[in-house]
Amino acid sequence: MSHSGIAEHAVEALSARERQRFLEHNPQSVALAERARHSLFGGVPMHWMSDWSTPLPLFVASAAGARFRDVDGHEYLDFCLGDTGSMFGHSPAPIAAALREQAGNGLTTMLPGEDAVVCGERLAERFGLPYWQVATTATDANRFVLRWARAITGRKVILVFDGCYHGTVDETLVRLRDGHTVHRPGLIGQARNLTQHSRVVTFNDLAALEAALAPGDVAAILCEPALTNIGMVLPEPGFLARVRELSRQAGTLLIVDETHTLSTGPGGCTRAWQLQPDFLTVGKAIAGGVPCAVYGCTAEMAQAMHLARAHSREMAEGHGHSGMGTTLSANALAMHCLRANLEQVMSDAAYAHMLARAAELAAGLRALFARHALPWSVTELGARCEFQFCPAPPKTGAEAEAAFHDSLQMLLHLYLINRGILITPFHNMTLCCPDTGAADVERLLATLDAALGELLAIPGARQA
Ligand code: PMP
Repeated sequence: MSHSGIAEHAVEALSARERQRFLEHNPQSVALAERARHSLFGGVPMHWMSDWSTPLPLFVASAAGARFRDVDGHEYLDFCLGDTGSMFGHSPAPIAAALREQAGNGLTTMLPGEDAVVCGERLAERFGLPYWQVATTATDANRFVLRWARAITGRKVILVFDGCYHGTVDETLVRLRDGHTVHRPGLIGQARNLTQHSRVVTFNDLAALEAALAPGDVAAILCEPALTNIGMVLPEPGFLARVRELSRQAGTLLIVDETHTLSTGPGGCTRAWQLQPDFLTVGKAIAGGVPCAVYGCTAEMAQAMHLARAHSREMAEGHGHSGMGTTLSANALAMHCLRANLEQVMSDAAYAHMLARAAELAAGLRALFARHALPWSVTELGARCEFQFCPAPPKTGAEAEAAFHDSLQMLLHLYLINRGILITPFHNMTLCCPDTGAADVERLLATLDAALGELLAIPGARQA
């Protein structure tokens, strides 16, 4: 039985009705889905786009600010915002202008321009780390930093927390089962044994972390300040400070992935909580929705990177390859948008607005669940907020996972979509952007209220 307190037969009854409603109300999406099946594998350009709660993919026509329109002409309030890729709203005006400015000035040359220098300066000011590099995706940024960390420390093992997600980075696609590191279930085409050089530890478990670092073979800990990809799991007071201490003692580097937690404030959790990472990675929203990611490091790391690079050149007699690349990284278009985002979009005022809306939403969700006498918890982190089907906020990835009730989650998401509201798929995350209004938050709460009212009215819906 799930922790949600909701019986499966009730979920199934309402889901069947909502699936039917989606198909009836979205003829253009249905037609495009049918057409797409003949040219796109699985009918979508990226296979996970068919994993949403809708019976067929919802096709988008346009998006602006906190809203988008589907091909059938329905307007949606967007609390998913591209799973943070559009954290600052869809097509913020300064990004649209930057795209237009750069459009006729060259898109990619393999050479830097002044924008790159300005971006380095702005990133250093914002995050407090002096040296920066640019990649195209957060996945790439994490992969590259892991290479540097191994080169710098001469160690091979990478440590991550159970329930993490850092992109499709091989080393991180592992879970903890019965105290052992295992492959994440469902990996396709996995040839390499990932457990050889990866180690998984329970989030918020300092004793386990200390034990895992004890052999002295861990090059780096790669972590988010809070788990955000298995539902939200906040660090307990003092946890991150102790992670930093233990990593220093063990000669292990600390990499903080701020890709999602950039929603916490203008300098992410790193600035808000004064974390002291050796490396910081951030992607997705950093250039306002244009593909771009960055990683920063301390002066000490930069010096060690120079040594590693000199050594690799020596070993390869000048003809080697670092294993880090991708031709389009730091292209002129991305750099112009990164600059515009850092200078004009990610402002203190934008964050103040986002955080206020998210706080209203979290308070409203708590009141809603109390009114319906549902034992569900709400976790807030900056502009993001998550509800989970368990009475107290989870403290570990495993606890967060135990609170999953997939069919119920799919039903609630579909119910919202059918009434013009999108929240982040695969768990119950919401994100507020600078264009999200107080009335938008109210509408989400009222629609969820209606969903729960209908669900709980089904005889036997509430389980003891
Ligand atoms: N880091 C974190 C914390 C993420 O949540 C994600 C993606 N959800 C990534 C990295 C990878 O981002 P991308 O898919 O854009 O490479």
